[in-house]
Amino acid sequence: MTLTFYPIRDTSRYMPEGSHCFQVGSIRCTVLSDGYYSYPVSWFFPNADPGELQRALESRHQPPESVLSPYTCLLVETGRRVVLVDTGAGEYSRTTGAIQARLEMAGIRPRDVDTVIITHAHSDHIGGAIDMIGRPAFPNARYVLSEIEWEFWTAARTDLAKLRLPDDARASIQSTARRCLGPLRYQIEPIDRETEVVPGITAIPAPGHTPGHLAVLIASEGQSLMNLGDAAVHPLHLERPGWQNGFDLEADCAVATRRRLVERAIAAGMHLMAFHFPFPSIGKVAALPEGGWRWTPGW
Ligand SMILES: [Zn+2]
Repeated sequence: MTLTFYPIRDTSRYMPEGSHCFQVGSIRCTVLSDGYYSYPVSWFFPNADPGELQRALESRHQPPESVLSPYTCLLVETGRRVVLVDTGAGEYSRTTGAIQARLEMAGIRPRDVDTVIITHAHSDHIGGAIDMIGRPAFPNARYVLSEIEWEFWTAARTDLAKLRLPDDARASIQSTARRCLGPLRYQIEPIDRETEVVPGITAIPAPGHTPGHLAVLIASEGQSLMNLGDAAVHPLHLERPGWQNGFDLEADCAVATRRRLVERAIAAGMHLMAFHFPFPSIGKVAALPEGGWRWTPGW
């Protein structure tokens, strides 16, 4: 009998690990993988010099044409409160929608979640907020979202012309936001400024990626974690802070927001989390002499 070994180059075989638990002071945090999705490189780095970008990807042993992007949600248990930051993509693709199973494995039932913070209403963050028949997936939760975000996506007309994405991707983003936000309307708790959502967990306006995009700060007993949401979607966006993301609605504002959040994190010695960074999506940054920041994974 002959055994044939195939080199593992088929990216569909890649699956991030499921969950990783750590403490921020007395607060228990668990990063949970909802899955992943593959995007054309040009969507992630629309203004990067092509040669520089290819060299940067090659030095990371990453393919030149596509980015395999993890989706990572954050479960926060304070002892009194159970908070979920972002809900994953739900039924968006066959490689997403693992969040309910991950929660169950962490001992959390949907009805146990009392607060869901939606960093923004893109499909990979809000798709898991409703179940397969369109009901809120977390029946007892209040859903905290920026008021600006709610108004933007539920307005009669949503202008996505500035997204550097194909028309069908824009249309999909818009229709998913509307489909998910509608059923949540009685449970939405809109915020309009930096707000401590529960003790130790603060939502911070971080506009640019979307008009009402939020970052989330977890702080306890002198330790802290800043969840950037999608203020950076790849470690190269930290190393090359001028490189924009095609999903950013207001690119200059998004770049300024990214800088503000990272500088705040460095000044206070915080760890960072980013939804699309390699699992477990947590790490620290250090300033590079030529500008930008180096990402070092881990807690
Ligand atoms: Zn995203």
